[in-house]
Amino acid sequence: MKNGIHPEYKDATITCACGAVVTTRSTAGDYSVDICSSCHPFYTGKQKLVDSAGRVERFRRKYKGLDLEAMAKKK
Ligand SMILES: [Zn+2]
Repeated sequence: MKNGIHPEYKDATITCACGAVVTTRSTAGDYSVDICSSCHPFYTGKQKLVDSAGRVERFRRKYKGLDLEAMAKKK
């Protein structure tokens, strides 16, 4: 390998939002991910809500305190 042009390829610990930890090697070092092979619906076969953009959280905050069921009945 030529010196000075290769990034350091070091041990890395990747932590998933579901709690899974994968040990591998990476030039990026340790980092965390939102989804991995232990919790991705493709691998688990289970349907799961993946809210990476925080849309559900934003919706809940916006309509907090409002009686959505009562509003739906009024229609
Ligand atoms: Zn995961």
